Amino acid sequence: MDAKIRLYVDHPLGEGQSVPLDRGQAHYLFGVMRQDVGAQILLFNGKDGEWRARVEQAGKRAGLLSCQERTKPLQMPPDLWLCFAPIKKARTDFIVEKAAEMGAARIVPVQTEFTNSGRIQRDRLQAHAVEAAEQCGGTYVPQVDDLIKFDRLLQSWEPSRRIMFCDEALASSQGAPLQGLHGPWAIFIGPEGGFSDRERSRLREMENAVSVSLGPRILRADTAAVAAMTIWQLSLGDWT
Ligand code: SAM
Repeated sequence: MDAKIRLYVDHPLGEGQSVPLDRGQAHYLFGVMRQDVGAQILLFNGKDGEWRARVEQAGKRAGLLSCQERTKPLQMPPDLWLCFAPIKKARTDFIVEKAAEMGAARIVPVQTEFTNSGRIQRDRLQAHAVEAAEQCGGTYVPQVDDLIKFDRLLQSWEPSRRIMFCDEALASSQGAPLQGLHGPWAIFIGPEGGFSDRERSRLREMENAVSVSLGPRILRADTAAVAAMTIWQLSLGDWT
């Protein structure tokens, strides 16, 4: 019987490994999804690949699964970070979910001068990244960082990590192509108010930053994040 339900667990996985479920996972599997002893579930933890596991114990508040066989090796995404300025809650959730589905290795919320929300709920955003990985068949879950200030992020920027600077001021011109520039990258997406002039010049003067246009129209930040990840994945990532 092939397993359909995928569950992220923060627990080692391996041949014969027993995996205890917490209350939330037990409620989801046995309450919501009506699974019971003997059911087959796909587990992944972001490190050991995906494993088919059998339900050994099923309870209201707990459960126990045992790993049977590895169904997928760990598939790491490309070394791509999405650095974005948080916008309204629902749209920020959307950006995190899409970044996880589209293959970001790390998601970095950045507080820029025009960012309207000065704080994020990191745990909630991390849960969205986990859910996206469960749904899209991924075996890796990108880490969602705490909110970091723009200057602080760039202070200790590793020179080997290139920046795809999505600059709305370039909207009418052609941004530089990315082809062939392999290695670690980060995409920068600004807030609803865009990047300030100071931030724009800071990014433009960085040796390893490539200013990119996302076409002649101004996209919403969430649209821009998806468009930029698509361009990057098709030029340099694991979609080709
Ligand atoms: N301040 C801008 C305005 O109101 O005209 C809007 C900024 S836009 C909503 C948010 C971010 O999406 C920008 O900072 C940029 O990173 C990205 N973006 C949107 N449209 C873009 C375009 N045509 N080219 C490059 N980046 C774009």
